[in-house]
Amino acid sequence: MDAEPLTNVMYLTSAYDAVTEEGQCHICLRKGKMTQEHIPPKNAFNGSTALWDRLVIPERASKSAHQVRLRGGFRVRTICRNCNNELCSPYANAYVQFVRHLVESPKLFDSSGSARLIQIPCDTLLLAKQIATMILAIQQLSYAKHNAGLREFVLNKESTYQPSFRVYAFLVPEVPEAGTITRFHGRVETFAPGYGFFGGEMSWFPFGFVYASQIGRKYDLKRFEDITRWFTMADTTDRNRDVVKLHCRVTGVDSIQGGLGKRRVRPQIDYIASVT
Ligand SMILES: [Zn+2]
Repeated sequence: MDAEPLTNVMYLTSAYDAVTEEGQCHICLRKGKMTQEHIPPKNAFNGSTALWDRLVIPERASKSAHQVRLRGGFRVRTICRNCNNELCSPYANAYVQFVRHLVESPKLFDSSGSARLIQIPCDTLLLAKQIATMILAIQQLSYAKHNAGLREFVLNKESTYQPSFRVYAFLVPEVPEAGTITRFHGRVETFAPGYGFFGGEMSWFPFGFVYASQIGRKYDLKRFEDITRWFTMADTTDRNRDVVKLHCRVTGVDSIQGGLGKRRVRPQIDYIASVT
């Protein structure tokens, strides 16, 4: 997408987190030592080492801290051992199966030739729970506390849930500048009509999604697939035969850095992660 108009967009939130190992689980809210969680899950093509641009840097950090090398993918320490290893592992496994399918399955295109038709190879409810887990993992603790319904959706393996946002999916090409992690934030469209936005994005090769309670018409909406139904479909048969139409795009809504006019040459993350 053309990121230029985003330079006129006002951002409402800052995104600074203290990096600590002691904390409170963003899923079950238990306090204690959190474990390291891979985002995306291990084996979901997160094995490569890459340099990421980051917007927010630690206090007293050097200028080079605006870039961070993430070895073997992006990791956070926001989920307890029980939630990470027991509760969420079936979700992570489904997600790995899904993204491997995206890369390895024969490419089928829709009649326009610009979007791929993908038969989902697993239970879409598990994929929705993995997406919810990843959103909760990267958001601040206050987001988890305020979104009890989303946490309950992750905690209960069978439940469905109507989220307060919609989830828009796309394919991400394997190019150096792809990769965007930006938390829920607001963009006012006063000076950039059509670019209003309340939401966040998590994307990297080969799959990405935007989660948004509001998204302006200028974000090339036709090239998103709305997969919010994955959160609400109760029928097991329907959940295991869903087909999606995915367009390829380097980013969904771009990062805050893109909005500040920083030319994208590598992946971008908009907050300090507990990089280890
Ligand atoms: Zn937990």
